[in-house]
Amino acid sequence: MHYHIVTLFPEWFSSPLNTALFAKANEAGIVTVDYINPRDFTKNKHKKVDDSPYGGGPGMVLMAQPLMDAIASIPKQGRLIALTPAGTPLSQKLAEELAREGDLTLICGRYEGFDERIYDLLPIERVSVGEAILNGGEVAALALIEATARLQDGYMGKNESGTEESFTQNLLEYPHYTRPENFMGLEVPKVLQNGNHQEINAWRREQALAMTLRHRPDLLARAELSEQDRIRLNTLRTLSFAKNIHIALVHHPVLLKSNMAGSSSVTNLDIHDISRIACTYGLSSLQIITPILDQKILVEELITHWTKGDGAKTNPDRAKALSLAQLADSMDDAIENVAKISGTKPILVGTSAKAEKDKRGREKRLAAPFPKIAELDKENSILLVFGTSHGLAPEVLAKCDYILPPLRYMGHYNHLPVRSACAIILDRLLGDIY
Ligand code: SAM
Repeated sequence: MHYHIVTLFPEWFSSPLNTALFAKANEAGIVTVDYINPRDFTKNKHKKVDDSPYGGGPGMVLMAQPLMDAIASIPKQGRLIALTPAGTPLSQKLAEELAREGDLTLICGRYEGFDERIYDLLPIERVSVGEAILNGGEVAALALIEATARLQDGYMGKNESGTEESFTQNLLEYPHYTRPENFMGLEVPKVLQNGNHQEINAWRREQALAMTLRHRPDLLARAELSEQDRIRLNTLRTLSFAKNIHIALVHHPVLLKSNMAGSSSVTNLDIHDISRIACTYGLSSLQIITPILDQKILVEELITHWTKGDGAKTNPDRAKALSLAQLADSMDDAIENVAKISGTKPILVGTSAKAEKDKRGREKRLAAPFPKIAELDKENSILLVFGTSHGLAPEVLAKCDYILPPLRYMGHYNHLPVRSACAIILDRLLGDIY
């Protein structure tokens, strides 16, 4: 692989590209590097490569001419790649694709970046190394060089060490251990010491799935999963995360048509459907909150019919779902029920069709709300609070630790039935990966 690095600071690369495996591979001719400095191509006597931005603002912009001429001076450019925060994120897949090329020209920005017209004039691809701003493209180019160079034949001692790593199959790698067997009271997993490679491989696959589910669940959408992997993942997720989530269906205090707080009536449909939703997503309980005596009697009767009575005999599937339903007098009562099941006081996550506003009338919204809540439920129990009638009364929302943004908050109409909102929210938190 021949790397052509277009940079104002060639000296930046001298240590990393003259050290360890890269230096050896360079000596062996597996990788070569040359530097092209746009400053050598300026047409002004001060060798200026940058100028102030049109439209004003801070910083300087790299002029198109020295860059274009620097690139044009490379006899065999291969793919042209600008390192820029606006690029495609560097991934193992992209590294594998680029590693198959014979030549790569890497264009490193500085200051505020390049005059945009270079992208109109040349077939330049943009690559980023993450959602953080670096001072220049050199560090980004180094990341790309290292990721592609180590995939060249003969670069690494054992070629296979490159094929089993994190990201190669869109899974994170399983954990590694080395001597001693016991370190500060922590033992190496027994399975790794028994010499049974079938068992070791099965354990490693399961650990890779668990690591990915815990740290980078987004990768699973692109991973190649066998039927057995899916079963393992589902078990892991249901056992470890979903069981921490509970639902509260609040009938008091809720907002009524008059916009006053009051009580709504329980409905058969909500109780059935939300129990089924809770069961589908592997939750631990559905708390049905009403302080009204005749409503409580109705709920008790309904739950008993479907979990212990004739309903259970004719429809055991429904019995399973309804067995998650529990009656509670109030929010506090529901919180206590959840604490009894989970062993910890739950974090309260409210839901609303209207966006929360701050004192200045601006909409308050959590950054990345669904991933944030999904992250919480790995360690804590969570009570997702849903209101009936016209939604949760302000006093309930005020008690919540977090409030999820309304579904379809950008539209003009978002009056979803509570059971639909419940299904959508749970799917965003725990939905299957396709
Ligand atoms: N004003 C630019 C912006 O907000 O997108 C950032 C310019 S940055 C200070 C200077 C140069 O560093 C960029 O032109 C680019 O070459 C490089 N750079 C900075 N962050 C990068 C990243 N995350 N990935 C790749 N290159 C990056």
